[in-house]
Amino acid sequence: MQFNKTGSLDMFRVIAAFLVIAIHTSPLYSINETADFILTRIVGRVAVPFFMMVTGYFLYQAIQNKDRSYIRSSVIKISTIYGLSILLFLPVNYYSGYFQDTFSWNKLVKDILFDGTFYHLWYLPAMIVGILIVTFGIQRFGLRASWVGAIVLYGIGLLGDSYYGLVQTTNSLATFYESIFTIVDYTRNGLFFAPIFLILGITIAKTNLSYSMKHILIGLFSSGSLFIMEGLLLHSHSWQRHDSMYILLVPCMYYLFLLLRKLPGKSSKTLRNLSLFLYLIHPWIIILVRGFAKVMNQEQLLIYHSLIHYLVVCGVSLLVSIILVLLFSNTKKENHVSPDSRAWIEIDLGALRHNVKELNQTLPSQCDLMAVVKANAYGHGDVIIARELMRTGIKAFAVATISEGIRLRQNGIKGDILILGYTNPKDFSYLVKYKLIQTVVDYAYAKLLNDYPKMITVHIKIDTGMHRLGIPVENRIEIEKIFHCANIKVAGVFTHLSTSDRLLDEDIQYSKQQIQQFYQLIDSLKENGYQPGKLHIQSSYGILNYPDLTCDYARAGIALYGVLSTPGRTGTPIHLKPVLSLMARIAVIREIDSGEVIGYGRQYQTKSKMTIATVTIGYADGIPRHLSENDAYVLLHSKKAPIIGRICMDQLIIDVSHINEVKQNDIVTIIGTDGDKQIRCEEIADKCGTITNEILSRLGERLEYQYKDKL
Ligand SMILES: *Cc1c(COP(=O)(O)O)cnc(C)c1O
Repeated sequence: MQFNKTGSLDMFRVIAAFLVIAIHTSPLYSINETADFILTRIVGRVAVPFFMMVTGYFLYQAIQNKDRSYIRSSVIKISTIYGLSILLFLPVNYYSGYFQDTFSWNKLVKDILFDGTFYHLWYLPAMIVGILIVTFGIQRFGLRASWVGAIVLYGIGLLGDSYYGLVQTTNSLATFYESIFTIVDYTRNGLFFAPIFLILGITIAKTNLSYSMKHILIGLFSSGSLFIMEGLLLHSHSWQRHDSMYILLVPCMYYLFLLLRKLPGKSSKTLRNLSLFLYLIHPWIIILVRGFAKVMNQEQLLIYHSLIHYLVVCGVSLLVSIILVLLFSNTKKENHVSPDSRAWIEIDLGALRHNVKELNQTLPSQCDLMAVVKANAYGHGDVIIARELMRTGIKAFAVATISEGIRLRQNGIKGDILILGYTNPKDFSYLVKYKLIQTVVDYAYAKLLNDYPKMITVHIKIDTGMHRLGIPVENRIEIEKIFHCANIKVAGVFTHLSTSDRLLDEDIQYSKQQIQQFYQLIDSLKENGYQPGKLHIQSSYGILNYPDLTCDYARAGIALYGVLSTPGRTGTPIHLKPVLSLMARIAVIREIDSGEVIGYGRQYQTKSKMTIATVTIGYADGIPRHLSENDAYVLLHSKKAPIIGRICMDQLIIDVSHINEVKQNDIVTIIGTDGDKQIRCEEIADKCGTITNEILSRLGERLEYQYKDKL
């Protein structure tokens, strides 16, 4: 499971960019050399590994799914940035004499691949090489073997970097490294340095560990202070050939990343771009600030006072980066398509509140609504619907899956959230983390829940005749045993009626028997001293046909959305308002001669001259293909326009011969009202031989949403 918790990571990218600038300007040098060493050669060294870990963290999903296109596009993107950066610094290369004495094509190639053509640019080829090595390694040999490989590579790198002093004690090692350094300038590159941090990021994404804040802070503090000691010690022994790679940098990065991931914050593309620009342009700014200082005769202040120099470079870099970010974001804004451009769902929140009121009036006063918002709130958009329901005072929600529950929590939905379905034991930790209530689907499952070391809150489902989920009502002993489980907190007991929507005598008999068996069980539990908690039986039709039950909750789904599953009467008269409308636009209008055929399979043949229009919605948006076979129509200028020919994936064709005012881009209503005409979802469901629940919950993901409040 992947969560979008990246806000603090984005924030830290900017901090890391300022650390990189510090590495290149030594802010504390004129104040205290040791302090400067600690800041720029030890602490500042977290910056680049951090960038690599974030990349690994987001690469995880792609590797997991063998999604080559994501990996390819990441590599292409970094290569493009690298190419542009090479050009950006070409003038500096030129003036610094890069192309004179020591230049050779070999050197250019190895610089492009490993060391970078300018001093900070090594990072970009390192990312490319690292990503290629790591994705290949994991796909070919698995994560564990890749870890071993990455550690070995990092070890080789360490000996050529901060631990170089060790190498010089052994002749053969010294020759080995001499030959390495004829090829590359440093071991801090894509081969030795990048893989371990990419894999560390990937591993954190994969295991999704959740340590306590205290644990993380202790880890960070202890590894961090040891890391600084390591750096100082190596420095004092003059072992360092370069100072990018340390042993304790790895655990330190691990805890730092866990800490950042735990902090709140909103993911921000602006911050990501800002840090990238800061990183890329600051060497230019250093050159410009120095040049400016010389021209103005201010070298003493602007260059030799290292802290002021640093702050000026940071300030100017930030300014230029902000300008670049603004330039970039302006050119990209064009992508926002307005929600009513092609095909969209219109949600009337006033109607939703009206339905809540109607249902509450139908139920006895002590019975509260548990709003069923599974399947994206039956296609209505779960988060916004749940938020609106929260405002009406609803405090209990039901979903089908754990991901749906987590999504609600992550979007600020409070109150009880009951998962009606099965949750894989692998994911039990999320039940605790997000305070979700799990349904006990059978007795074996209760034992699994109890085996999980932390307390999980549950509602026990009782099977009184539906035979889908739940413990059979006659297995009273098993049900009682659940109350004894030390790691399970029973907060409710419920059942589901299998035929509450039907009003034939035998159906009513069956439902009544289900209800009676449920209450008998509850009575006996209570007699034996068990507290069953919240009780609930009814779904929408249970409310409409058996409104007098005295439960704690009624699980309202379809009725909340203002429709019934099928057209017809219910035991209680109730006035519900449909919440959802479905609209699309006219793409093309054309005249067709008599005897022509229209659409796939030559299904429809015109009997006379006709005007037809193509509408921008199809079965991929959730309109059943089957609908066109059953005299279906849409509304346009308050008139009915029949659907003709087969419904296509993205389009359908209608007859508009009788609608003179029709124009391109006109709005077509597929579900909803237009003037004095209305198409109800029940009607469409009926024509397709199904129930509204299915039609609504299958509305396609690519539809846009418009929320309105008509009351
Ligand atoms: C989906 C569901 C509901 C809601 O049903 P509606 O008929 O839409 O009201 C209630 N209870 C359970 C167990 C469900 O799965």
